[in-house]
Amino acid sequence: MGKRVFVLAETKDGKLRHVSYEALTVARQVAQGGEVNCVLFGPSSVDFTDEISKYGANKLYIVNDNRVDIYTTDAYVQTVSQLVNEIEPDVILMGHTAIGKDLAPRLAARLKFGLISDCTEVVPDGDNIVFSRPIYAGKAFQKRRFRKGLVFATLRPNNFEALEKPTKTEVVLFEPTIKDLRTIVKEIVKKTAGGGDLSEAKIIVSGGRGVKSTEGFKPLQELADVLGGAVAASRGACDAEFCDYSLQIGQTGKVVTPDLYIACGISGAIQHLAGMSNSKVIVAINKDPEAPIFEIADYGIVGDLFEVVPLLTKDFKKT
Ligand code: FAD
Repeated sequence: MGKRVFVLAETKDGKLRHVSYEALTVARQVAQGGEVNCVLFGPSSVDFTDEISKYGANKLYIVNDNRVDIYTTDAYVQTVSQLVNEIEPDVILMGHTAIGKDLAPRLAARLKFGLISDCTEVVPDGDNIVFSRPIYAGKAFQKRRFRKGLVFATLRPNNFEALEKPTKTEVVLFEPTIKDLRTIVKEIVKKTAGGGDLSEAKIIVSGGRGVKSTEGFKPLQELADVLGGAVAASRGACDAEFCDYSLQIGQTGKVVTPDLYIACGISGAIQHLAGMSNSKVIVAINKDPEAPIFEIADYGIVGDLFEVVPLLTKDFKKT
């Protein structure tokens, strides 16, 4: 029997986040001919109606209340709870983004349903759905089978295909009842350091303690610029104050799955691997041939990163 799936889509910097397309694609597979509903928040939601249609949503709810223009847990929990009561979905999906990580457990606790976070695989199996997620810092994968009852899953960004399937989408303006807000965000002030959104970057050039200084990140930034990528770091580099903690990849940092991860002067500690080992192609540059990062790298370059990185930049500039 077809399922009713509800996707919480997200926008960022005037664009629909890529993981929302991925979630809509997974939603169609899980729905198995059932209904795909989607919700968007914020003033520019109407601009994304065509995009949502392209990815097969049958119904798009646009929340018509300026108190959800900027994310706050309070306002979103109240709004989504009301939508869940209206839609009565079997499955709720959203990205394992900063908002997803905050909202999903709150909603699951409030509405008393199961939550499975940071999924890397979702497979419908008859009436059941099997979700896989990495555990023990990526050393193992846990499979969870949901048979009945509502389940909420957050999806690791950049991990699923985003496939178009144009559908006629009904657009519904939703007026939530929002009260007793404990938090009101008046303005978001962007940090100047930190660059783009790492969780959705296709190419990441990452530096470790081997980069040696803030200045040492410059060649990495140049390589990232040439490749159209973003710069990240190990905790070693962040602890040494070479860069901001917002760049940290790993168990206690961000989890990324880019197409290409170039690790420069990073030893490959298990806690770092937890954040990047699912990258599609890993290139390691390290002067120590015994560095553990080479065990998971697809391509390894044994050498001084201050010689190798500028050479790569020079070469990529030609192409
Ligand atoms: P190092 O281990 O010092 O490695 C530096 C590397 O640079 C060496 O391999 C060296 O050979 C190489 N090198 C030096 N100079 C050059 C050069 N000129 N050219 C090329 N190579 C060079 N770490 C994380 O990254 N992310 C996390 O989220 C995280 N969470 C943690 C949570 C806990 C609870 C704990 C205990 C630790 C955590 N760590 C985390 C820390 C982790 O254990 C490592 O200490 C850290 O990842 C090491 O960073 P690094 O590889 O940059 O430094």
